Amino acid sequence: MKNILIIGAGIGGLTAGNLLAMKGHKVTIFETHSMPGGYTAGFYRKGYYFESGTLSFEASASIFKAMKDIGVFEQIDFVKHRMRFVSEYFDGTPENYSDYKKMIYTGFPSDKEKLDMFFSELDKMVYLMGEMDEPMPFLYSGLNMLKAMIPYILSAPKLMKLSKQYGNMTSSEFVARYFEKDSKLFKLFSRIGYPDMPAMILGSALMTMFTDLWTVKSGMQSWADILAENFRKLGGNLLLNFYVDKIITKNGAAVGVSYKNTVYNADYVISASDYKNTFLKLLDNKNLISQAAQNDIAKAVVSESFFTVYLGLNMTNEELGKYLKVPSVFAFNNQPGYDIYNAEDGEFFNKTSVSLWSLSMENPNHAPEGKSSLMLQTMVPYHWMNNWGGGNKEAYGQLKEKAMEALIDSAARLIPGLKEYIEYKDAATPLTYERFTHNTDGASSAWSWNPKKRFYKNAMSVNIETPVKNLYIGSCWAMQIGGVPGALAAAYQCTKKIK
Ligand SMILES: Cc1cc2nc3c(=O)[nH]c(=O)nc-3n(C[C@H](O)[C@H](O)[C@H](O)COP(=O)(O)OP(=O)(O)OC[C@H]3O[C@@H](n4cnc5c(N)ncnc54)[C@H](O)[C@@H]3O)c2cc1C
Repeated sequence: MKNILIIGAGIGGLTAGNLLAMKGHKVTIFETHSMPGGYTAGFYRKGYYFESGTLSFEASASIFKAMKDIGVFEQIDFVKHRMRFVSEYFDGTPENYSDYKKMIYTGFPSDKEKLDMFFSELDKMVYLMGEMDEPMPFLYSGLNMLKAMIPYILSAPKLMKLSKQYGNMTSSEFVARYFEKDSKLFKLFSRIGYPDMPAMILGSALMTMFTDLWTVKSGMQSWADILAENFRKLGGNLLLNFYVDKIITKNGAAVGVSYKNTVYNADYVISASDYKNTFLKLLDNKNLISQAAQNDIAKAVVSESFFTVYLGLNMTNEELGKYLKVPSVFAFNNQPGYDIYNAEDGEFFNKTSVSLWSLSMENPNHAPEGKSSLMLQTMVPYHWMNNWGGGNKEAYGQLKEKAMEALIDSAARLIPGLKEYIEYKDAATPLTYERFTHNTDGASSAWSWNPKKRFYKNAMSVNIETPVKNLYIGSCWAMQIGGVPGALAAAYQCTKKIK
């Protein structure tokens, strides 16, 4: 039995904790927040429940396998989602990729030729990626891992061809081959997923929006709570409100962590939290990492963060449903001048599109009786307006209010008179996300998705090993594009590594 300390009770830390405890190890998870979950969590305000991080996930085959392995799958009420897409050109809730294509062709009849060329290339990516809807091989060991790799091995020639063609190309570069840069279609397609993400995953990102978009009916917090409870039942020790302030090393190996000068000894330490903090802040002996590697870590670009508005509405779910139709809506409304890289554009929030999610339409228990809730969300430029006011509290408040008003106005196009129904309102900025999870700049999904700004050479690899012996990465930061699947893959790899 090994003594293992895990920093962070996000989905990565909780999964690793459960799997390692199941193997009979002594495991302690330190979580700085008062609740487990990290980005897979939620909170209540005035009787309304809101998600504090991810609202949905894809790659359900991997996630369901992991929850079955841990034995909690039946306890979590996963539900599938369909998203409505609205703009001045289209309005539909496609059931699948071909429905989506029909919707776009109908909205842009004069662009048929360009759309034909674009979709014929995108189809190749969609169908190839669609063949790989089994759990990731990382979630298996031994012979089963080899079996899980068969679809990848069989698709390898096609994948390699695609990778050669598009591996280093961004989604905007790909879309620009077919549509002029200021056209609506360029803006629409280059807006899918993360900005300038790998062109290769554009097709699968689009397809999973129709075929594999899931959430948890009782809220993400219930998922984290179930994992936390199971971990405790397995004999694990979950310490909440514990901020690990140091990773302690001896002779080049991790031997423990400390919290307010109290030292906890360990055979292994797993950082299931932010990568940059792990090495640039927590590690006690920076000499264990070369100066060049420290510079690389400091310079590495992280994924974009979000701005989210939380609204409690004095409106029934039925009324709200008349406007939204389904709980989740993407309202495409990019205005001229929209630029996700322009941190100095004070009007950014008047130009961006907005996603609307009503958790109470999915589950009425998420709002007080007769009321409803709504979350408005958009991706934001890094360090918008001198990082939200340059540390000035008053300026921060004003910028937050301005961004909130802009998104509410935008949502009011779909929900007339929205403002009059608001009885609770607040918002999370990237600084809020950072404050609650310690993810650098509020990074929402590990490192940058841009293939030209990679931290890891191979975007699909799971990198749990570190220059420090017995210190592993068990969070989404072990993979370039993180996400829930990245966190799970890291947790499994850590579990396999520790015998
Ligand atoms: C708005 C939004 C939308 C998203 N959408 C999707 C999606 O559609 N699909 C998808 O797959 N992913 C999505 N993601 C990303 C996904 O939620 C995350 O990648 C994943 O949940 C990360 O899990 P994790 O365990 O690696 O890290 P985290 O959830 O960040 O957990 C890390 C934990 O460590 C704790 N911690 C940090 N430092 C310390 C310390 N020193 N001591 C103690 N505790 C510490 C933090 O408090 C936190 O609880 C989204 C994220 C956001 C924010």
